[in-house]
Amino acid sequence: KPILFSGIQPSGDLMIGNYIGSIKNWVKLQDDYQCLFSLVNMHAITVEQNPDDLRNRSLDFVALYLAAGIDPQKSTVFIQSQVPEHSELAWILNCATYMGELNRMTQFKDKSQKHEHNINAGLFNYPVLMAADILLYQTELVPVGADQKQHLELTRDLAHRFNNRFEREIFKVPEPFIAPATAGGRIMSLQDPSSKMSKSDSNKNNFIALLDDPKTIVKKCKKAVTDSGDVIEYDLENKPGVSNLLTIYSVISGQSIEQVVKHFEGKMYGHLKVELGELIVDYLAPIQQRFHQIRGDESYLNAVLKTGADNARAQAQQTLRDVQQTIGFVLP
Ligand code: ATP
Ligand code: MG
Repeated sequence: KPILFSGIQPSGDLMIGNYIGSIKNWVKLQDDYQCLFSLVNMHAITVEQNPDDLRNRSLDFVALYLAAGIDPQKSTVFIQSQVPEHSELAWILNCATYMGELNRMTQFKDKSQKHEHNINAGLFNYPVLMAADILLYQTELVPVGADQKQHLELTRDLAHRFNNRFEREIFKVPEPFIAPATAGGRIMSLQDPSSKMSKSDSNKNNFIALLDDPKTIVKKCKKAVTDSGDVIEYDLENKPGVSNLLTIYSVISGQSIEQVVKHFEGKMYGHLKVELGELIVDYLAPIQQRFHQIRGDESYLNAVLKTGADNARAQAQQTLRDVQQTIGFVLP
């Protein structure tokens, strides 16, 4: 089976955009690919984290992966920092990446605006570590939201660069798998549909967390910004707020946008918001229930992570050794 890699950083609250942009697809793809799903905590420390929160949140996220349908019998679930080959390859790739390439990354620009007091070198190098995550496993497919497209392009460029320089296929060149759900491939913020929904957004009304309770979900949907006018239609240009809600409704209900628009024909924005809230509450209920079960069993979680890290490491070491040998490192 071809190899698939994807990761989420344990920052903020895992939310519906992460679910739609990646986790939901992970679940579907795990039968056809040899999947590695990582909790990329080394990425998370590019912004300041409280140590206890980081540790707890990491376990929360892994439990949510499992609760959402990731099967550790089929897929490798692991924590990035438990596989040191990620940093080792990242350093080597750093030395093949140009400052200019990283300067162009829009996520760096966004995040350095948000974290003005802490524009650290890790934030700048983030895409290189991501490239290492992917290339280490000879990954063929990377299911990510459209916000990561630029990083994946860099990963592909780096793979080509190495393969060309050493005239053989050192790295598989990975393909992105961008969730087809949305026109732009991104779920937008509830309060500001011109920016993407982000789990580490300081305004929690901007997103629906997978662990939000029913009341909060309904309230956040009701508060969502809609546009002028009163007809429910899908129009990204003129009605980005309504279109975003329709997108979420469509993905969660499994109906096409056309079907959803038809369903709300003649109704008002308020109807859409209320029904969307209820739909999400019902959808998340079983996931939340499984989450609490799994999260309560820390020895099970740790066993899953141990197996995951062992598996991942065995694969990662093969690539890293090959790279080290190729570039002239003396192997132990
Ligand atoms: P942060 O603000 O901490 O960066 P994030 O929500 O951007 O949080 P990431 O850990 O950076 O989350 O990304 C996890 C996955 O979720 C990636 O595959 C990313 O493409 C996807 N993703 C993030 N935001 C969205 C979104 N608004 N719509 C669709 N997919 C998204
Ligand atoms: Mg992000």
